[in-house]
Amino acid sequence: MSNLLMAGKKVLVVGIANDKSIAYGCAKVLKAQGAELAITYLNDKAERFVRPLAEELEADIFMPLDVSVPEQMDAVFSELESRWGELDGVIHSLAFCPLEDLHAPISECSRTGFLQAMDISCYSFIDMAARAKRLMKNGGSLINFSYLGSALATGDYNIMGCAKAALEAATRYLARDLGPQGIRVNSISPGTIATRAAGGIKDFDAMLQHNEEMACDGKLPTIEEVGNSCLYFMSPLSEGVTGQIHYVDHGVCIVG
Ligand code: NAD
Repeated sequence: MSNLLMAGKKVLVVGIANDKSIAYGCAKVLKAQGAELAITYLNDKAERFVRPLAEELEADIFMPLDVSVPEQMDAVFSELESRWGELDGVIHSLAFCPLEDLHAPISECSRTGFLQAMDISCYSFIDMAARAKRLMKNGGSLINFSYLGSALATGDYNIMGCAKAALEAATRYLARDLGPQGIRVNSISPGTIATRAAGGIKDFDAMLQHNEEMACDGKLPTIEEVGNSCLYFMSPLSEGVTGQIHYVDHGVCIVG
């Protein structure tokens, strides 16, 4: 019998854009521990960057998924059901906000931009949880990714801070809702990492520098470090842990 922590476990990974993505760091660590992966890509433009990574990770399932399109969510979950029949984990590693709203002071953000940011960055996690629970016959683990800007007014995070605060609240309510089914729900809150999505934040380089200065050891997190925490949440190592916001930020969140 394999002693790998994720041997035979089936995990859906949503949010790989390229090899800098947090979701890629997570998928690599899970694969090394024996997980079987379903990997999605946003659209045709993204496919050519994600396909080689899905091949490298020997993904069983590789499909398009824009979480704001219900038919695509239907297609992914029906493929998971017909190919695997069950699911053990979901990694929701995605966020979106129109750039003009992200760059505006919070008092100037538009209603449409706000609703779109909430829909894609928060509601999609609730939607995925509802679909996943039907396939998690033996319990399971769901994780998403938040940021310290949910709890504090940090840098130029603005509208995304509101979306992440809602996502963290959804994590706690889903943990309570799905606990009786043996499904755990947690949020990982990494420090700043230079990824494609992060590049959309105004003055992100200044945020990186500030985080490096604030870190207890003067370091920024890597996607592999975040991946190791993801392994903890996906595996029995975190049995008994649910509804938590878990920081992987080299201590930035505890420094006053
Ligand atoms: P990334 O650009 O590599 O990944 C973001 C992903 O979101 C992309 O794969 C993109 O395709 C996906 N996405 C956007 N809209 C989507 C939609 N409608 N449907 C499906 N997928 C969609 O950037 P990342 O930094 O790896 O981001 C992953 C998660 O980590 C996000 O939730 C982000 O807010 C969070 N996070 C990032 C940082 C950081 O500093 N990079 C810090 C804390 C939290």
